[in-house]
Amino acid sequence: MKSIKYRITTSRFPIDIEQKSMKSIRFTVYPPDGRVRVSGPTHLSRKQMMEVIQERMDWIENQRKRMMQYPRPSAPRYVEGERIFYMGKPYQVRIRSGSVGGVQFEDSQCILTLRKGTTAAQRIGLMENHFRSELRTLVTEFVSKWQPRMKVNVKFTGIKKMKTLWGSCNVRTGRIWINLELARYSPACIESIVVHEMVHLKERLHNARFYRWMNRFLPDWKEREKELKEARRC
Ligand SMILES: [Zn+2]
Repeated sequence: MKSIKYRITTSRFPIDIEQKSMKSIRFTVYPPDGRVRVSGPTHLSRKQMMEVIQERMDWIENQRKRMMQYPRPSAPRYVEGERIFYMGKPYQVRIRSGSVGGVQFEDSQCILTLRKGTTAAQRIGLMENHFRSELRTLVTEFVSKWQPRMKVNVKFTGIKKMKTLWGSCNVRTGRIWINLELARYSPACIESIVVHEMVHLKERLHNARFYRWMNRFLPDWKEREKELKEARRC
């Protein structure tokens, strides 16, 4: 018997579902990012699958929480000589001291000016603030560019750290969140994620209709998002 694969998006994370020839329902949460997969028998309807998943939601959430407590192995520290990615390009961190803290990208260098006594946490905060504000500017530009073309209305756009998603969209409120870590990737790739989230305002699910919109607005979206498969640090 053929298996059916689809994905649903809960308010906080997507769940990949597969229905195939099997007798019971199996829930799996994968490390390190808490990806959720549910497989079940083909005779159940989607609605029945949803009900079973809903019942197990507490368990899923707990598993994900436990899994994501582990620190990310490649969290950058922004120390002298470290290689980081920013807007799709590699840079080498150069530390300088000065009276005012700041971040500057020049040629292939990321010049980080630090005041005397800056702690490691403050150093990371300085970098993240820079990434956040640059990413916000870029995302805002993309939203203004695509809103009239797509005929959708984005009510709010925000940047935040997310463990498992590059972006999320609340269809009901028109709010879009973009993962801070996208600042490591190229603007072409970032644009694709923004368009993806905006398409959700036309189609909530990742179904054929959704991908028809994606192909229409950004025919090369797959190519653009390829770089997301590479491990990068910022
Ligand atoms: Zn999506």
